[in-house]
Amino acid sequence: MKYDTNQLEINKVQKSKIEEVNFDNLVFGEIFTDHMFECDYANGEWQNPKIKPYGPIQLAPSAKVFHYGQAVFEGMKAYKDEDDQIWLFRPDENFKRINKSSARLAIPEFPEEFFFNGLEELLKLEKDWIKKGFGNSLYIRPFVIATEECVSANPATKYKFMIICSPAQAYYSGEVRVQFSEKYSRAADGGVGAAKAAGNYAAQFYPTNLAKEAGFQQIIWTDANTHEFLEEAGTMNIFFRVGDKLITAPTSDRILDGVTRKSVIDLAKDLNIEVEIRRVKVSEIVEAARKGELKEIFGSGTATVINPISGFGYKGEKFELPKLEDSYGKSFKDRLMKIQYNQAEDKHGWRHLVK
Ligand SMILES: *Cc1c(COP(=O)(O)O)cnc(C)c1O
Repeated sequence: MKYDTNQLEINKVQKSKIEEVNFDNLVFGEIFTDHMFECDYANGEWQNPKIKPYGPIQLAPSAKVFHYGQAVFEGMKAYKDEDDQIWLFRPDENFKRINKSSARLAIPEFPEEFFFNGLEELLKLEKDWIKKGFGNSLYIRPFVIATEECVSANPATKYKFMIICSPAQAYYSGEVRVQFSEKYSRAADGGVGAAKAAGNYAAQFYPTNLAKEAGFQQIIWTDANTHEFLEEAGTMNIFFRVGDKLITAPTSDRILDGVTRKSVIDLAKDLNIEVEIRRVKVSEIVEAARKGELKEIFGSGTATVINPISGFGYKGEKFELPKLEDSYGKSFKDRLMKIQYNQAEDKHGWRHLVK
């Protein structure tokens, strides 16, 4: 079906609240821009796409999202270059992925025309919220929820697709130490680990709290069957550098196919860094750490791009990683950000100009 983007209805705020925002002191994900995009699914089709003032939405207590968790989301960013042009980074990947996540949760796929038209019109309205400067960005959160008023346990017949935006600064997460999971799991074979499904994150909070009590900030999840293989962190894919080689787990139905992850793999290839995409044994990483061959662990994800990890814990033992001058993680972060901010050649065609 062809979706007519002329249907987009735009209702602007009377007065922007941007003056009230201190852009030098932003906490990630707390402040939202003036407008949001909303589109409803009913009678078998997506309809009435609109941009309207950001604010609460009304849902019945019986809305299915509250009972059965039919909810998926995405995370992407918009960047402004020195000439005030607005850029997205590989937005087609996020579009494809939200529909893949939706399909897994029996949510109807969202039309591409509505997604890009809604997103770009929203960004144009909010252009003043995207600040120039390396590290400043607008975090974009598309999501879908089941709104049908009915508590029978089957897929809803009504949904809401929304996009909200939150200004973000470059943020330093401090030293991050991770625990390799020995008991809890994030995802199982045949499950929903590969989907950005809301419930995946709720399920991680409790074990992550336990890890925090033990002195770690995050968990690297291991496979649910044996806990012998390292998979990914809660919101990041994970890379290990042993010697000069980079190792990361293959994507599967348990691991999220991160846009940053695949970009890092391509950049590594450009730089002639050897990358092995294969299962990563906990025992090989522990052994490499003991021998001093484990040089780096870092996470990759849209929010922080690359998140260096300074140490890890496993079976009660703690390991610290060396502080490197020639860190791969730092170099990937710098290269990726230069592409995102239109400061470097984009030979893979990852940048997307919002016109
Ligand atoms: C979003 C996410 C990532 C990172 O994906 P990007 O596309 O790089 O932002 C990795 N793992 C999980 C579980 C995620 O939810």
